[in-house]
Amino acid sequence: MALVRWEPGREVDSLQSEVNRVFDAFFGGGAGAARARRWVPPMDLVETDDHLVLRADLPGMQRDDVEIEIKDGALTISGERTAEHEENTEGYYRVERAYGRFARSLTLPEGIEPDAIAASLENGVLEVRIPKPAQRKPHRVEIGGETAQVNGNGAAPETIEAQAPHPRLGAVRDAPGRLQFEISARDGAARTGRLLTSSGPVQTPAFIPLATKGAVRTLSFADVAGLGFELVLGNTFHLFITPGAERVAELGGLHRFMGWERAIITDSGGFQVFSLAHGNVADEIKGRRGASGTSDGVVDISERGVAFRSYLDGSKRFMGPEESMGVQAALGSDIALVFDECTPYHADRDYTANSTARTHRWLDRCLEWHGERGPEGQAVFGIVQGGVYEDLRRESAEYISAAGVDGIAIGGTLGRDKPEMHGVLEMTVPMLPAEAPKHLLGIGEPDDLLAGIALGIDVFDCAVPTRLARHGMALANLPDSRFRFDLSRAAHGLDTGPLVAGCECPTCLAGHTRAYLHYLSRAEAPTAARLLTTHNLHFLNSLVRGAREAIRAGAFGVYRAGILSGATPWAEERSARPDAETQESVRGEAADN
Ligand SMILES: [Zn+2]
Repeated sequence: MALVRWEPGREVDSLQSEVNRVFDAFFGGGAGAARARRWVPPMDLVETDDHLVLRADLPGMQRDDVEIEIKDGALTISGERTAEHEENTEGYYRVERAYGRFARSLTLPEGIEPDAIAASLENGVLEVRIPKPAQRKPHRVEIGGETAQVNGNGAAPETIEAQAPHPRLGAVRDAPGRLQFEISARDGAARTGRLLTSSGPVQTPAFIPLATKGAVRTLSFADVAGLGFELVLGNTFHLFITPGAERVAELGGLHRFMGWERAIITDSGGFQVFSLAHGNVADEIKGRRGASGTSDGVVDISERGVAFRSYLDGSKRFMGPEESMGVQAALGSDIALVFDECTPYHADRDYTANSTARTHRWLDRCLEWHGERGPEGQAVFGIVQGGVYEDLRRESAEYISAAGVDGIAIGGTLGRDKPEMHGVLEMTVPMLPAEAPKHLLGIGEPDDLLAGIALGIDVFDCAVPTRLARHGMALANLPDSRFRFDLSRAAHGLDTGPLVAGCECPTCLAGHTRAYLHYLSRAEAPTAARLLTTHNLHFLNSLVRGAREAIRAGAFGVYRAGILSGATPWAEERSARPDAETQESVRGEAADN
């Protein structure tokens, strides 16, 4: 598969958005879970110097199953896939391959030469290469290869005309130097590649450790780099409160200030200022409803932004779209996120609709500010909101996709529990331009990472590995206990085993036993948090590295199923299961967590 570069600001992007929009309209309706069972092959439209390239993921389909027709300036791809079905009865996990008949018609730009259009179908990926431009006339395209079969029975597939692209907001400069995204391999909707930032490449899918207050807690940045991470997330809100963006800028920017030369993404601060009013959205995803309605810290929410009181000294502070972009510009991160309201689960539809519309107006203001004053090499990601409401998510996806951002983050509440979260993601991700880099905000448990990767999400940030470590919890290949166990439990007092057999993190390689970490954890020694943070971050990094390798090998489904049934993420141990004794000893205690 050739490399694909997503270059924002080109005509093809709005066309791409249109591909998804029309396609969704055709198959639309129904809630996330119902939609996910429909056969909606992901399609990408990419523009190269001399071609438009349309790619469709058609796993399991042969050339005979697909028809391509060009007529009256429209290209139609149609076909049918018969049912395949597999199910894992443990818990809610379930894999269901979609099936059924599909037809997709795209109006071609003026002047296309139909004779020069070529198509191939290999390894489940259909690629149609359309040279630009020339005349248009009725034509049929053969799928390359010896068994080519074109529009065989003459039955007219159901088609939809593509409509005019969205008006572009055009607020962001077309500057490919800021960020490029290369996809080097796909497996279904999952993909692996590289995000090329101003501070170097980031292999995707990637997990992003939180450097909330200028550091990944308990680690040095040499540790973080040593673990192989290429991107960390800095926190605009906390750095705004103290030491202040001006001071960081005076000291040479966030990279120099922290001593981290690799890539940095900064959140917008929106999540934190609204958390003051709404409680923590992350708590809801875990089934705990946050401290909703506690608005102690928030003074006023208006169209201009949010006034709040500093947790440091109670002073009144203000943050809106311009302030957020200003802080992120001063910090000099490689990727900035636009200022948004992260709506909580308990927000009703009216609130969510109004909030999402305001977030879109804020997006425009962020992009306008950044277009005039943003740093040269800083990319900007938009954030899709809309809560759990399909129409609002779609509206938001379209708005963000048409805005000319460099990538797209998915924010807001994703539901009350994991099945609902996965449903909202299954609904939302296909609404986004396929080639855009995608960031799932605040999600990072192993099963959720794998679910996101399967849908085509590229980067994830989450407090889970570092926060668990500070509470004496280690990540492990234990799907039945949320991939974790508690070292402070008495059962580990004499346990001379490693945290996870075969783990090559510095903590496990040093030979530290569960008994030692149990003791340190009970003694509340800072070293316990450090050693466990090291292990937990390594565990998640191994998980995404394993995912990248599996996608390249076309075996992501097998890899995911393996992890969900207790395999370790590292290749040499992938088939190994924890021994029965270990599994038993940690299972009982994990129930308490
Ligand atoms: Zn380890």
